[in-house]
Amino acid sequence: MGLGPADFARARAHMVKTQLAHRGVRDPLVLDAMGKVPREAFVGEGYEEFAYDDLPLPIGDGQTISQPYVVALMIEAAGVRAGDVVLEVGAGSGYAAAVLGRIAARVVAIERRPSLVEQARSRLERLGSGNVELHSGDGSRGWPEAAPFDVIIVSAGAPAVPEALKAQLAPGGRLLIPVGRSERYQKLLKLVRKGAAEYATENLGEVSFVPLIGEQGWTGKA
Ligand code: SAM
Repeated sequence: MGLGPADFARARAHMVKTQLAHRGVRDPLVLDAMGKVPREAFVGEGYEEFAYDDLPLPIGDGQTISQPYVVALMIEAAGVRAGDVVLEVGAGSGYAAAVLGRIAARVVAIERRPSLVEQARSRLERLGSGNVELHSGDGSRGWPEAAPFDVIIVSAGAPAVPEALKAQLAPGGRLLIPVGRSERYQKLLKLVRKGAAEYATENLGEVSFVPLIGEQGWTGKA
């Protein structure tokens, strides 16, 4: 017999406590949003029973939904607030976009793989995430139509910080991005826009993301 809504709700509450709060995630907006978005609706088919494990999981097309802790860590570090306009690059399953949508005013999310966009869009519609808009395309160039952004979260690893993303940050805006010379291992960087061409950069530690493929990311077909 499969797991029911009450089992998933229990597992979600346990994840928030043990994987997030006990590891130091404090922002009540983040803990609340992570406690509400059903991760079981975003993982690849057949992985539902593992939805609240402390792991990234497959979502198809060789891509992954990030570990819950990494999603929470990035959103907390970005200091997302109720009125914010947020860009997420690398929407994948749509999970992080749905979490962001519970906190921010508007979320623009971009995914380069059309098959993932279709699935993510129907999930977000089913869950009523009306303030999340999903686009198909190369997010390494950002999304100039909706800029400037208070927060930009990049959920894939780049070889360097794309200039287009820096330019689309609002004054005081925060950019969270994994950057590294290897396609699989990166440092999680936080940039804060201090002036027209002035950014403060902080290294938040080692992470491992799939590569950001595109004009201002890695080139190729990974
Ligand atoms: N945030 C996602 C979630 O909650 O499921 C997980 C993202 S997954 C780790 C990274 C995603 O970035 C993949 O789906 C990949 O196809 C996508 N990606 C890679 N390069 C991209 C680009 N230039 N523009 C948009 N999406 C990109």
